[in-house]
Formats: sequence, C-alpha cells, structure tokens
Amino acid sequence: MIRTLDVAVIGGGQAALAAGFYLRRTSLRFAMFDADVSPGGAWAHAWSSLYLFSPARASSLPGWPMPATANNYPTRDETIAYLAEYERRYALPVERPVGIVATLDAAEALHLVTDTHDIIAARAVISATGTWSAPNLPHFTDQSEFRGRVVHSAQYAGHEAFEGQRVLVVGAGNSGAQIFADLVNQCRVTWVTAAPPVFLPDEVDGEYLFDQGTARFNAIKEGRTPDTPKSLGDIVMVESVRAVRERGLLKSVPLFRRFTTTGVEWTDGSHEHIDAVILATGFRPAIQHLAPLATPDARGRLAMDGLRAAAHPMLFPLGYGDWTGFASATLIGVGRAAKAVVDAIESDLKQSTTEGGEGETEKRANP
Ligand code: FAD
Repeated sequence: MIRTLDVAVIGGGQAALAAGFYLRRTSLRFAMFDADVSPGGAWAHAWSSLYLFSPARASSLPGWPMPATANNYPTRDETIAYLAEYERRYALPVERPVGIVATLDAAEALHLVTDTHDIIAARAVISATGTWSAPNLPHFTDQSEFRGRVVHSAQYAGHEAFEGQRVLVVGAGNSGAQIFADLVNQCRVTWVTAAPPVFLPDEVDGEYLFDQGTARFNAIKEGRTPDTPKSLGDIVMVESVRAVRERGLLKSVPLFRRFTTTGVEWTDGSHEHIDAVILATGFRPAIQHLAPLATPDARGRLAMDGLRAAAHPMLFPLGYGDWTGFASATLIGVGRAAKAVVDAIESDLKQSTTEGGEGETEKRANP
C-alpha cells in the first residue's frame, strides 16, 4: 500500500511532538510514525527512579509549559505524562506502533518503508528518532571472555534485577551517577569512571548547562569569540545523588584494565569477582532507518547542509544534538529547531506547489 503525504515525521518523542506542534499550524498534510506502543519516547524506557536534570520550568515544549512537579526535577513518570498530554492536547496524528525500516529517494517524493512493508510517500521527511535505541557501547579488552551480564543504561529498568549482586556502573555522567545512587542500597556496587566525575554545586540546576550553551551559541552566531566556558561541572545534584553524597558514598574509581571470565582486573593487577556491569556510556543517533538514502559517518551523524541532510534536501534530521540545531536534544531546546525545520518545509512546499500551479491551501486553525 502506498500512502501520500506532504510531510512524514518519523518518531513520537519530544522532538517529533515539537515538529507536530508547528506542522499543526500549517495547511500541510502530515502524519507521525512511532515505533513505540505508547507516548513518551525514550522516557517510557528509562529506569523508574530517573529524575530529569532540568527543572520543570526548563523542560517545556512549545506552546504548553510543563506543569510544576512535586520536586524541582521532574520524574520519569511526570515527563511521560506531560508528553502524553501534550500529544493529546494538540491532537497530534501519531500512528503506533509503526517502525520505519528504510528510506528511498523516489524522484517526486521520499519513500519510507514501514515494518509491515507499506510505503509512505512524503514530499518532506522529518526524522526525529532520538538516540535511545542506539546505545554507545565501548569495547573493553577481553569483554567477550566475561561470563557475567553486561547491560547498557538503556536496558536498565531499576535495581530489582541486581539485588545482592556485585555490580560495576561505568560512566561519569548523570546516568552513571543516578544509576549508582539507585543501586547503592541494594547491592555491592562500584562506580567506575575514565576521568573523575565533576559535580555541579547543589544550588545550580541543569538549566545552567543550557544557559551556558546558549551564551556560546549566541556569541558564535553574532560573530563574537565565545568566552571560554568556566565549567562548574556536569552532574546535576538531584535528590538521590545528594543523598548518597551525604552518606560519604559518592565516589568513583578509575577504569579497570580488562575483563576476566568471572570479573575484572584492576590497574594494580588485583582481580575482583563481578556479576554484572552496567554501561552508562551514552548514545548515538538512531538513524539506521534513513539508509540507503543517507548513512551515518564514523560518529554516527549525517553530513548536513544547514537544517537538511546533505543526502537529500527534503530530509530533515531533528533532535539528535547540536548538529541538528543547538540544544535540540533537550526538551526546552528542541522547539526552536523544530520551528526552523517546519518553516523551511512550508516555504519549500509552498513554492513547489505554486510552481506546479496548484495554489496554496488555507491555514488550519490551531486546535
Ligand atoms: P526519543 O525520546 O528517543 O523518541 C524517539 C521516538 O522515535 C521513540 O518513540 C522511538 O520509538 C521512535 N523511533 C525510533 N526509531 C524509529 C523508527 N525507525 N521508526 C519509527 N519510530 C522510531 N533532556 C532534557 O531536556 N532534560 C533532562 O533532564 C534530560 N535528562 C536526560 C537523561 C537521560 C538519562 C538521557 C538519556 C537523556 C536526557 N535528556 C534530557 C536528553 C533528551 O531529552 C532525550 O534524549 C530525549 O528523549 C530525546 O527526544 P527525541 O524525541 O529526540 O527522542
């Protein structure tokens, strides 16, 4: 079956919703295709004790601010509820579960192939599939020898699966700190980081990271040399992490030398038995569905021409990081990038419709 649209949005997380918000304000025929069975994007897969590092006031999509949350930092469930309600509020046409498995250039349109072998023919495509389904997995010496469990933070559902075990958490970011805090009462856990973790002062929340980035972004845009950022730290002291620090337990050790069959060998040559290793080692853009039209480089990114993928002028990657719009991988930052993308699509399609003599259709009112 072939279905035709002006714009197809791949994804149903926050980036896709922000794009949907602006598409709703145009006359373009669009639909959104999400591989998940329910709203919330990546947040629906995260561990239950996760706190955002951006406070509610700095975690809003365009149009409707995130309601105040019980704590300064929204929980996973509060974030999912916000995104689900946002989708409903703006009647965004998300179809689930529909996975896109390939993208082809078919002259007048881009063809998206779904996991049920249907074709969606769209004049423009916004790919907003995030990173959660593409964990960054570092390779450790002798990892294949290890008989214990190795999981990425993307598969970490909570401490229940690790009760009483000997566990390593690897990674110096917010995920590593929060998962370590989640496990500390439940098992014998060690936090392992390649470099010492750097903590933000308690009174500084995640909005600071965004403000600092904005200042840098504006300076570059205005042709000024940005100030060398005085980094205050990376890890936001959410309640769970603070509680572990208060008990004197918030400490990490340097990376082990290699895996053994039953555990790890530390740099001093000692061996330790380990049951499980949790890799909180970040993510890469989940863009494999854009092949064969567009394929990622060694960093997992696409070559870009402004807002567009260099591989095709009507393919717009959105929400993957600064390379797809400054701060576009955050709740508060993705709105600006989404607006720029939708403006560009509307202008291009209006122009091609006018050239084709079909005229312009009326603006649809915002529901
Ligand atoms: P996602 O939320 O991952 O949504 C992508 C959607 O696309 C999913 O529903 C997925 O099923 C679907 N999809 C994927 N592939 C396909 C396909 N081929 N076909 C169809 N559908 C597909 N940001 C903040 O602003 N504040 C924070 O405090 C914060 N904390 C974070 C904490 C952690 C641990 C992590 C990992 C990230 C955090 N971020 C935070 C960053 C950011 O908000 C998230 O990465 C965000 O989920 C990205 O949204 P997205 O819509 O781009 O992707």
